[in-house]
Amino acid sequence: MSEAFDPDALRARYRAERDKRLRAEGNAQYRPMTGTLARFRADPGVDPAPRVPLTDHVDAVIVGGGFSGLLAGVRLREAGLERIRIVETGADVGGTWYWNDYPGVQCDIESYIYLPLLEEVGYLPCEKYSHGPEIHAHCRTIAERWGLLDDAVFSTRVERMTWDDAAGHWIVGTDRGDAMTAKYVVPAIGPLSVPKLPGVPGIEDFRGVAFHTSRWDYSYTGGDTTGGLVNLHDQRVAVIGTGATSVQCIPHLGRWAEHLYVFQRTPSSVDVRGNAPTDPEWAASLPPGWQQERIDNFGTLVSGGFAEVDLVNDGWTDIIRRLTSLGMAELIAQGLGPEEIAARMEEIDFQKMEEIRARVDALVDDPATAEALKPWYRQFCKRPTFNDDYLPTFNRPNVTLVDTDGRGVERITERGVVAGGVEYEVDCIVFGTGFEVGTDYVARAGFDLVGRDGERLADKWGRQVATFHGLTSRGFPNCFFMGGVQSGVSPNFTELYNEQSLHLGYVVGEAERRGARTVEPTAEAEAAWVQVIRDSSGGREDFQEACTPGYYNNEGRPGEGPGWFGGNYGGGAPAFFRVLREWRAGGDLAGLDLG
Ligand code: NDP
Repeated sequence: MSEAFDPDALRARYRAERDKRLRAEGNAQYRPMTGTLARFRADPGVDPAPRVPLTDHVDAVIVGGGFSGLLAGVRLREAGLERIRIVETGADVGGTWYWNDYPGVQCDIESYIYLPLLEEVGYLPCEKYSHGPEIHAHCRTIAERWGLLDDAVFSTRVERMTWDDAAGHWIVGTDRGDAMTAKYVVPAIGPLSVPKLPGVPGIEDFRGVAFHTSRWDYSYTGGDTTGGLVNLHDQRVAVIGTGATSVQCIPHLGRWAEHLYVFQRTPSSVDVRGNAPTDPEWAASLPPGWQQERIDNFGTLVSGGFAEVDLVNDGWTDIIRRLTSLGMAELIAQGLGPEEIAARMEEIDFQKMEEIRARVDALVDDPATAEALKPWYRQFCKRPTFNDDYLPTFNRPNVTLVDTDGRGVERITERGVVAGGVEYEVDCIVFGTGFEVGTDYVARAGFDLVGRDGERLADKWGRQVATFHGLTSRGFPNCFFMGGVQSGVSPNFTELYNEQSLHLGYVVGEAERRGARTVEPTAEAEAAWVQVIRDSSGGREDFQEACTPGYYNNEGRPGEGPGWFGGNYGGGAPAFFRVLREWRAGGDLAGLDLG
């Protein structure tokens, strides 16, 4: 436990740190990778061979080959569909685990619950927190096992999907000239799939090498995801951003670059990693059904529910358990009201963050650098990170932290990066500046979806995002959205995708069994779900408003855009999954129109 602290002083410090980071432009501060910056989005080293455009008919087109698309494919296969075509912009399946192959890439969620279908494929990850290549390999295993590579097309971007009512199918157009048709379409675009750049001038002017972390240029750095960036031995490198991605790649850059400048706007909370190889005895002791039990246990704890045991027992469950469930049960037993409980939760949060800050002092030698690396906000204002090598990297003589005191870098020049009025000359800039969140869904998806009577999803959702259970939207028959729109979000993304895929598989299976040509929600069911979303969201405004800006809170303007949590089912992921399960148990497809 940390030493005593002054809550008033901490509250004031948090508020001051937040205030100095608030920007008038909010979420519009970033630059998309379009126009003169489009090259940043290209797939490095991939030059797709020309191929004949596809004009065939398949049972389903899945847009995206990440975990959500793969799980959708698995369940559609189980529902009896034969021709399932994943269309993917990357040159392989994997989604985020295809694109994010930067050095040090690793999953912060325990591998035994994050990698789906472990029991089904008979695999157990090698360590508690898998590194990227193992996860990517698992994606391929799933794709192969369920025959999802047979019809897949890669390095192909869907541009338009148009419903043909007379034919009862979708026409799918791509940037490779395809005009295939499909009875079902499944947009599975992922929540963090569109990389973005900082909103500073001069990015086009830089004469050196520059890339985003999700498009790592190994032809320049040398090495691979395990390190060995030998070509950097005589290179000065800048990293802009210190989020979860940069925390993982900075130790490698520091190890190999001649000099590394880390440009920081807001420090991350960096907790203990605690990785370990998988214990063979434990592995041998696992009973059938263990994975779902573990997933449920984690999901319950991180959403504030109560569980007798904490099976995962890591930084996620520790902090959230301290903040909510176990502490909460005690507090309620003591007869405390909501305000007193909120005060106690704030106190626990202060304690946790004091520990995080004390860890910085323990691991970073230079007191001024240590001070600059300390996060001053509540634990879940930003996504927590877990790493044992990041903080000690700042003890290296070839690593300089350039703390911008919340202002960020000012501009890029031909020669380097300007911050605090100083130009830092570098040979390479790595943009660890994250991904679009809270921007328009259709713009993010990158394709036009045109439903019945020519209605565009961009227009319909531009007025009001409207779905039934997050999966279907009226006027867009046989279209199923995977991902976090009007659904329950969990830090363990694959849990949501798996639950959604089971629902999708059930609905399509039933529609097929009943000989339906089309399936879509009734207007009433959709309106009712939109109301459920409205009624269940909220309750986090004060917390979000007081937070330092970031993608969780719409860059400090939680009321002005969805951010990460907005527009989702506020009752929590486990409750959302129960809604889906109970609906399926009803067996009558209530709220769906079968045509
Ligand atoms: P983030 O959005 O988390 O971080 C972007 C970084 O760029 C922030 O530090 C931000 O500062 C900084 N930044 C933006 N503009 C500027 C500027 N003008 N000057 C200086 N800095 C700037 O992106 P990440 O790629 O790190 O992570 C995105 C998400 O991906 C994570 O939150 C997580 O959900 C996921 N992820 C998951 C992993 C896993 O283990 N499963 C691993 C890695 C990522 P500021 O904080 O001030 O906005």
